[in-house]
Amino acid sequence: MELLLLNQSNYIRIGIFLLLLILLIIWEIIKPDHKLSVSRKERWISNLMVVFLNNIILRIIFPYSAILFSDIVIENKWGLLQIYNINGYISIILGILVLDFIIYLQHVVFHSIPLLWKLHRMHHADLELDVTSGTRFHPIEIIISMGIKFGAILLFGINPITVLLFEIILNGMAMFNHSNIYINPIVNKYLKYLFVTPSMHRIHHSIKISEHNTNYGFNLSLWDRLMGTYNESFKNKLILGLPNFRDLKYSKLHFMLIIPFIEETE
Ligand SMILES: [Zn+2]
Ligand SMILES: [Zn+2]
Repeated sequence: MELLLLNQSNYIRIGIFLLLLILLIIWEIIKPDHKLSVSRKERWISNLMVVFLNNIILRIIFPYSAILFSDIVIENKWGLLQIYNINGYISIILGILVLDFIIYLQHVVFHSIPLLWKLHRMHHADLELDVTSGTRFHPIEIIISMGIKFGAILLFGINPITVLLFEIILNGMAMFNHSNIYINPIVNKYLKYLFVTPSMHRIHHSIKISEHNTNYGFNLSLWDRLMGTYNESFKNKLILGLPNFRDLKYSKLHFMLIIPFIEETE
């Protein structure tokens, strides 16, 4: 069963990605949270094309997928979880928590180091937020993220099932928390005790620096609460994006890709 899952991991990931994408698009159309200020057509083609591009680049640069790499790590009994012989459900839960905390820290670092922020700006330059914003990351940021993921798998000895589960969860949650979907305020209130919800992540895309340097989490809201970066001052009318990238041309793929190399005027 485990072997079958791993052999089919690519199909499983792509299948779940497409299913969630379609479901969230339907939800956005039937029950949106608010009216979009920029039309979908302008942004969607590029946001979806960049996913395709990133996947091709990762396949060219990395000889193994993260899941295959994890298989090699486990075969050789490398990493802390393997050294301390931690297996089964405990290793899956610990592995997911470790990877989620690393993703949180990585996000903070991408906001703190100017050179990395230039790459991450492409994600923040989106003038609106919807399900496709969750996949809009610069290819160089994606390559660095994959390198960090490989390092974490090796250091902690994270097994392939955990890596597969985490990739599915992260991908799904990134689409969910960027989407423009209406969630009942009471449900949202309880949901955000544990998870990052769209209203929570939306403030991270505010044009104001003081607001976009908060709510860094992608899956669990725990890390922002623990590290003091949680921001609950949710507003209805947030201006999204970045001051220097207000032109709609930055929604076109080739302009999106050169955002890291453009000097900011302020
Ligand atoms: Zn960010
Ligand atoms: Zn985001």
